[in-house]
Formats: sequence, C-alpha cells, structure tokens
Amino acid sequence: MTAYYFDNRFINELPGDPLTLNQPRQVLGALWSTVTPQPVCSPQLIAYSAELAELLGISTDRLMQPDWLGALSGNALLTGMTPFATCYGGHQFGQWAGQLGDGRAISLGELIHHDQRWELQLKGAGKTPYSRRGDGKAVLRSSIREFLCSEAMFHLGVPTTRALSLVLTGEQIWRDMFYDGHPQQEPGAIVCRVAPSFIRFGHFQLPAMRGELALLNQLIDFTIDRDFPHLSASPAEQRRMQWFREICTTTAKLMVEWTRVGFVHGVMNTDNMSILGLTIDYGPYGWIDNFDLHWTPNTTDAEGLRYCFGRQPAIARWNLQRLAEALGTVITDHSMLSDGLAQFDQTFAQAMGDMLAAKLGLTGWHESDSSMVDQLFALMTESEVDMTIFFRHLADLDVSAPDLSVLRPAFYDSVKMKHYRERWDAWFAQYCQRVMTAPFDIEERKAVMNRTNPCYVLRNYLAQQAIDAATTGDYQPLQTLMQVMREPYQERPEWASYAEKRPDWAKQKAGCSMLSCSS
Ligand code: AMP
Ligand code: MG
Repeated sequence: MTAYYFDNRFINELPGDPLTLNQPRQVLGALWSTVTPQPVCSPQLIAYSAELAELLGISTDRLMQPDWLGALSGNALLTGMTPFATCYGGHQFGQWAGQLGDGRAISLGELIHHDQRWELQLKGAGKTPYSRRGDGKAVLRSSIREFLCSEAMFHLGVPTTRALSLVLTGEQIWRDMFYDGHPQQEPGAIVCRVAPSFIRFGHFQLPAMRGELALLNQLIDFTIDRDFPHLSASPAEQRRMQWFREICTTTAKLMVEWTRVGFVHGVMNTDNMSILGLTIDYGPYGWIDNFDLHWTPNTTDAEGLRYCFGRQPAIARWNLQRLAEALGTVITDHSMLSDGLAQFDQTFAQAMGDMLAAKLGLTGWHESDSSMVDQLFALMTESEVDMTIFFRHLADLDVSAPDLSVLRPAFYDSVKMKHYRERWDAWFAQYCQRVMTAPFDIEERKAVMNRTNPCYVLRNYLAQQAIDAATTGDYQPLQTLMQVMREPYQERPEWASYAEKRPDWAKQKAGCSMLSCSS
C-alpha cells in the first residue's frame, strides 16, 4: 500500500489554539484550532477528478478504498493527517466583520507529492470554533457547484483551488434557500478541495486589526517561506516588498482571467481572496450569458451590485488596499505598499490589453482600441448578445467581407438584432478595418482566438440541470458535464447543446439566474 507524506507546516510552525473545545468562540493569539471532522452515516463518492488524484499520487482505485473514502467523507484519517480549522477575518460587503474563520472547512493536512505541496480541505465536514451560528455542513447543490466550477475553471486555464472529490453524506440538512422563512431538508455533501495554500487576505487582516503584531509577523514570514519560496533569498524588507507586489500581480491577472471567460464570483469579500491569486470559495457565483457588466448572480448583492461583473477588478484592488493596510501595521515603509498597488494597475492594464487583443483576434493592443471595445460592450449589452457564443463565432467572421449573420446564434432576441443592425454594421466595419491594418495569418488568428475564447463554459443552467438530476439520484448529467468542461476549447459536434445560449426557461429560474449565499 502506498504511504502518503503529510508535512503539515501550517500547524507545525504557527501558533495554535490551546483550547480544543469545539464551540463557537473568539480565538485569540492563534492561527488555527484542532478539530475533528464529524462522521457521516453512509458516504457515497459520486464524483472525483481523476487528473487531480494523479497529481496527488493517488490512484483512482485507491480513492474508492475504505481508507481514502473514509478520509474524504470525514469518517477516518490517514496516517499523517492532523485536521485543523484556521482563523481569519474579513471585510464583507465593504464592512469589517471581525473574526470569520473556517466555519465549515477542515484541513486534513498538507500532502507532499513530487515536491509539490497540496493541502486537502474538506468543506462541509462539520462544526469548528469558527462556525458561529452555522452547522458546518454543506448541501449537495452547493457542493456540486463548487466541485464542477473548480474543475471547469482549471481546464479553462483560470487559477483556482481544485476539487478532488464529491461525497454524498447520506444526511439531510435544513436550509432556507431563499431566506424567506421556508427551510427545507436537502441532502448533505462534502467536497475535498485542494490547493497549495488556502491562506486568504483575511488571515493577515485579523491579527492586524487585533494588534497581534508578533503573530502577524510570524504569519507573513511563514507564508513567504512556504508559499513563495522563490522570494526567500532576498533581505527581509525587500522580500516582503516583492511578496506584496507578487500578490498584486497575480490578483490583477486573475481579474483579467475572470473577465476573459465571463466568470462572476459573487462574494469578493476579503476573506474570499487567495494569497496565491487563485479563485477560491465557490458560492453564489455565475457565468455571463447575455453580456452585461452590471450583472451579479448573488441575490444579496442585487441592490448594491458591489460584486457585479464589471466591478470585479476595482473590488480586487480595494481588497488589496485592505491587505496593504493590514501589512502596514508591521511594514514601516509604506511606499512599498503603494508600489504594490501601482503594480496592480500596471499589470492589469497590460494583461487586459493582451487578453482583449487575443479575444478579438488583433495582433496587438493599442490605446485607441479601448473605445472600440467600449462600443462593443455597450452594443452587446443593449442588443442582448451572448458573450461566449459571440467571441467564439467572431473567429469565423470573414474580415474582408463581414456578414453579421455569422453571429446570429449569439443574439437572444431577433427583434433586437434587427433594431441594432446598423450600429452593428458600423461597428464591424470599424473592427474589420482595425484587424486588416495589422493582419494575422487567417489560420493563426483563428487558433489564437479559439484558445482564448472557450466554446463551453459552466453556464448557470447547465450546472443546475446536473444538480436537479443528482438530486433524484441520477449522476450521469454531472459526469457528462464534467467531461465537457474538461476540454472547453475543443468544439465537438456531440456536445453542441452545451455550447448553446441559455434557454428562455432558465432566465428567471432559481439556481440558473438568481443564487443566494445559502449553501
Ligand atoms: P462564505 O460566504 O462562504 O465565504 O462564508 C463566510 C463565513 O461564514 C466563513 O467564515 C464560513 O466558514 C462561514 N460559513 C458559511 N456557511 C457556514 C455553515 N453552514 N456553517 C458554519 N459556517 C459557515
Ligand atoms: Mg468564504
């Protein structure tokens, strides 16, 4: 039997909570608490990521053996696993919320395989000292959403935490899905998510806010040492400066990637921001169907639109400012922090230009292209055009003789298509002229565009269909959807239905357009 090596540096090197009482409370002077996953009655592995298992050195056969199945469902621990929950705070919807922490996430350990570190974390395995009023559990619908989207994002090439397994616990959990006083029982589930590090901005904010500066210093040094080893050689202050710059750079790039694929996170609180610039915490996220910079999937955010599609980069920057404030309590040279934020602006502008150029099939990005893109976005919004289909089909446009009908499948409303026809023709004339000023080889242009513009994304209604089927015990749609999401840039005739625009019935259906944080 293969043995697995867990080095568990987070708990071995950072101060832990001396109390082992598993009750909601403030945890001071510590970064983690010992917890034990709560056993479940009849665990059933309903999905797993074979590629990720391989990366971790776990054979898929082994995943189904009692030892791993036990670990993935919270019923057993493998040798070397020492479960813990971590302590962090965060700004939620712009307000400092104090201590939050892993309320329903329990890390099993840090697995080392081929010199790579992979922290395994169960989501939904029961209460921790950070559960506040929650039950520490997760329901099937939200677990399917986290599982599917983590893997879909990975295959799209977007930095993300991964998901190894999805286990049905056999338990029923009470949830008030619409927060309208009508709780219902739903099947419980556990996702095992995986990342090199689950450290969030909020991990630094909490000790800074509490004035626990020695703890904060310790966490900074630890994080750089463990998660940014390439920076370890520089002198201490300079190393911290490089570190903050890198966080700003990876976060800026992540925002460009979300924009590229039309992903809206939905809850960009500072506790949901990864120090590695990974997409983390899949809750009421959604995907853009008809292009709209003001769209948010999160019903809680419907009025403020704080976390809508178009505001994500500005919010990421705001979150980095909050992180900079926290670090500023122990970093004396504040110019280091403003330098990092300048780095965000610069990286974002550069990466956004490069991404838009690739999306549009331009050989490079010019300042003057911005107004063309603004006009495009406005037109796409007003005339209700599907983002994914539009960009994918744009590669098929003959730029020497543009014909709008190539893009017909992207329009949700034929009346609007007619109504906006002249404006579209004018835009295409401008666009084609721009393409021709610095032309690509036709085949190369198409190749660049097709690896930038996915054919398949995890449309909200597709995920919901997989959830509806799984709720009745049919996991086939979930498996097929996973299969499609594994190769999102490869068009296949047999998957044509997954590339279609959102059907009308899904426009106002719960789970397909409106999502709550209830999970
Ligand atoms: P989220 O909105 O998912 O980022 O969660 C915000 C905070 O609420 C985090 O500290 C979570 O751990 C906690 N939380 C969310 N759902 C639950 C739950 N069912 N039980 C305990 N804590 C939860
Ligand atoms: Mg969270």
